[in-house]
Amino acid sequence: MRKRIIAGNWKMYKTMDEAKSFVTEVNGRLPETDQVQAVICPPSLYLSELATLAEGSALQVGAQTMHDTDEGAFTGEVSPKMLAALSIPFVILGHSERRQYFNETDESVNKKVLAAFSHQLTPIVCVGESLEQREEGKTVETVATQVKKAFQDVHADQAKQAIIAYEPVWAIGTGKTATAEDANEVCKEIRAEIGKLYDEQTASAVRIQYGGSVKPSNLAELLSMDHIDGALVGGASLDANSFVEMIEVA
Ligand code: PGA
Repeated sequence: MRKRIIAGNWKMYKTMDEAKSFVTEVNGRLPETDQVQAVICPPSLYLSELATLAEGSALQVGAQTMHDTDEGAFTGEVSPKMLAALSIPFVILGHSERRQYFNETDESVNKKVLAAFSHQLTPIVCVGESLEQREEGKTVETVATQVKKAFQDVHADQAKQAIIAYEPVWAIGTGKTATAEDANEVCKEIRAEIGKLYDEQTASAVRIQYGGSVKPSNLAELLSMDHIDGALVGGASLDANSFVEMIEVA
């Protein structure tokens, strides 16, 4: 049985005060369950403080991105070693906004995935097709290539721990969600690709999230699908009530 995981990607939203109020509000309200992991990924500036604030609660904290080297002259960047030193368990890698606005490529995502594993950080590896690729019938091909490249040189034992977020680019922040059936179909292909790269056991261990306009009202249907193990949520994760509701639904 794969444990469900709902992760909030806060992107570049909230001040420190707003972020702290969210955590204080959510802390005591999460259902006592080991069936689902609840994660928020705030701007890196708040990671340390929010991780401390969430200590002892069911809420976990993850980063939205990181560099691929431990240290060096990389102005503005945060390293895997720094995240590991703060005991941050998760890091989102290769989000489509990073690919689109910050020149991340399948190759750079792969370096980051390797760096994450070398520091015992669990990567949430984002993949997904653009509207154009979907319309050209290239969804599966696109996503399978992204998965293959992201996992190059990753050992099976590590791959088993990974989380993959399938986020169709056209569904992010647009209010358009893939139908649960369509999302499941692509997640199934992602699992099959992991099976090809590794083996059956690794494929069935990997957790796959759907992301793109997920909210409390459409989450249950998505999670009822065989290959969808959770969600990566942007907009709807910013509100404490809707975040708690999603954890309850999961
Ligand atoms: P959204 O964002 O839920 O606001 O569509 C999802 C994401 O970018 O991870």
